[in-house]
Amino acid sequence: MFFLSPTGIVLSWNRGAEAIKGWSADEIIGESFVRFYPPEAVAVGHPERELEIAALTGRYEEEGWRVRKDGSHFWARVVITAMRDDNDHLMAFGKVTTDLTERKRAEEQLQNVLRLLEQTVRLDHLTGLPNRRAWDERLQEEIGRARRDERPLMIAMIDIDHFKRVNDQHGHAVGDRLLKQAALSWQRALRPTDVLSRYGGEEFALALPGCFPIEARAVVRRLMAATPSGHTCSVGITQWDGAESPDQVLGRADQAMYAAKTAGRACAVVAEP
Ligand code: GH3
Ligand code: MG
Ligand code: MG
Repeated sequence: MFFLSPTGIVLSWNRGAEAIKGWSADEIIGESFVRFYPPEAVAVGHPERELEIAALTGRYEEEGWRVRKDGSHFWARVVITAMRDDNDHLMAFGKVTTDLTERKRAEEQLQNVLRLLEQTVRLDHLTGLPNRRAWDERLQEEIGRARRDERPLMIAMIDIDHFKRVNDQHGHAVGDRLLKQAALSWQRALRPTDVLSRYGGEEFALALPGCFPIEARAVVRRLMAATPSGHTCSVGITQWDGAESPDQVLGRADQAMYAAKTAGRACAVVAEP
């Protein structure tokens, strides 16, 4: 805790202030309080404004970065109280500064962990692709964007053929590896704005924003060619009709995919809207 003159000159300094900020009473009494602020704050007149507000309202309170004698920054909670005499003349400001750096760092770490968690719950852990949850959100967003921008949006469902056989004949680990390899090579065949996700099991969902049916067919052909050798997939493709819900368009893509299975697998079927 310390006191400032009405113009911001340090009048008194206690041991707590020395412990937090690093200056001894000898060094800082008579100096301007502007020294406690980072240059960015000084440049915009922040220190002076604190005193103006405290003078006007009686009290100023905030949390922000402050500077120690050694130049290091600390996160401070600051309370400034205007002290007036019986005639209401401003005599001084009392200032209590609390070092909350530890708490601030802990909060930042928590935020980082939460951000990481947010990403993790949207990732499929086997393939690294967006999972069903992320897909549901992205599809909703892509439909919203397509509606706003009046742009086409193609949706495809991709299902690996006879995947159960891979598991049955070679074991689950080999099945897992095939899923990873397929995801990787398909992803490589796409543009960054395309959304490939693991919808579930050996089914993948694909959104192609800004894409017309003819281009979507070409993309899917490329994708089918990129399927790990010795394996094939069946694909259902459809264009969002400009009005339908995510479930509806996905349902139509799914039906088209089953039509591709019925047609003998290893092919793509385009559903008419
Ligand atoms: P179809 O050509 O008709 O698509 O036949 P299919 O065998 O691919 O289809 P089906 O849906 O009958 O079988 C899918 C299998 O995928 C069943 C399930 O055990 C397996 N599976 C689902 N998720 C995983 C996974 O994460 N890893 C592995 N190895 N297998 C999985
Ligand atoms: Mg399958
Ligand atoms: Mg399936």
